[in-house]
Amino acid sequence: SRPQPKNAEERLMVAVRIRPLRPDESSRVLHAIEKKHIVMEETDKNDVLRQKRGVDKQYSFDVVFGEDSTQEDVYEVTTSSLVKDVLNGYNATVFAYGPTGAGKTHTMVGDRTHPGIMIRALNDLFEAVKDKEDEYSVTMSYLEIYNEQIRDLLNPSSGYLELREDSRGRNIQVAGLSEISTTSTDEVMQLLQKGNKARTIEPTAMNKTSSRSHALLSVTVRHSTPIDQKDHLRMRVKQGRLFMIDLAGSERANKTKNRGKRLQEGAHINRSLLALGNCINALSGGARYVNYRDSKLTRLLKETLSGNCRTVMIAHVSPSATQRDESRNTLIYADRANNI
Ligand code: ADP
Ligand code: MG
Repeated sequence: SRPQPKNAEERLMVAVRIRPLRPDESSRVLHAIEKKHIVMEETDKNDVLRQKRGVDKQYSFDVVFGEDSTQEDVYEVTTSSLVKDVLNGYNATVFAYGPTGAGKTHTMVGDRTHPGIMIRALNDLFEAVKDKEDEYSVTMSYLEIYNEQIRDLLNPSSGYLELREDSRGRNIQVAGLSEISTTSTDEVMQLLQKGNKARTIEPTAMNKTSSRSHALLSVTVRHSTPIDQKDHLRMRVKQGRLFMIDLAGSERANKTKNRGKRLQEGAHINRSLLALGNCINALSGGARYVNYRDSKLTRLLKETLSGNCRTVMIAHVSPSATQRDESRNTLIYADRANNI
């Protein structure tokens, strides 16, 4: 059974996950309703004079994961069907979007007791190809885009890597990127954790562990079957690719007290996220012209974002009153992807 996504609705799913309120956060302003909507309280409870009274706003998405959602819920609803597509030779992409601290890495990687999407997807792929190693090959790479420069997270000492493409702008590849072949989930967990430690994390005034890099895990499945049952030398190869991406924090550069280098980073991050937003917007049918060339991120994803591939965006928000502005920005970004 070949999945054949036809319209924009099938090609793009926009989900939002609300992370649990932390004990040090007192007031909740975001509420999930019926797994489809989010209401944001716009009135400040401490504003006794009611001077800044606003109208509560409701946003709707394909799916909303509330504070009590599990890693398994999120994987099953967003990604498990993409894994089946990839086994059938299709490409697919899952993004985690949102400000630093909203739960992107928790959703994508998680930890040993709460494994995230990357681990679960690989697990399912390994399970599907088990005992069929002569038919299937599974390889993966893990890279970072930081400041519009690409680094290999599985081999960080290899320096900056170049994007290469053929003269028609097709077949984009990262020159020198390591491809690892394994079917051990434990090994993958270790590789991802090691890779994450190699991610560029630098302190800013706003958040000491603000992650300014995009991390892309790419998993390629090749399925070889004989063209003719009597002739096992001539094989037909179907290739599917799954990108799982932990995006850099979406907080705006102008909110951090950044100077010099940091400000430039902010601009680059906004450029990548803006370019991605424009591409997703086009995917959902809103724009005629898509410029994939605007950023390294969109150049890399060009083949996967266009055509008959499926894309899932999981936007992340905190329910806390202190994060109201960031949450509003995130919901608007996700809503734009959803509504056009
Ligand atoms: P980000 O990657 O977006 O910066 P993290 O994933 O690092 O955010 O999350 C920030 C903190 O909140 C981490 O300590 C993480 O374990 C915790 N956290 C995030 N989402 C959840 C969740 N759904 N359930 C439990 N803890 C969470
Ligand atoms: Mg993170």
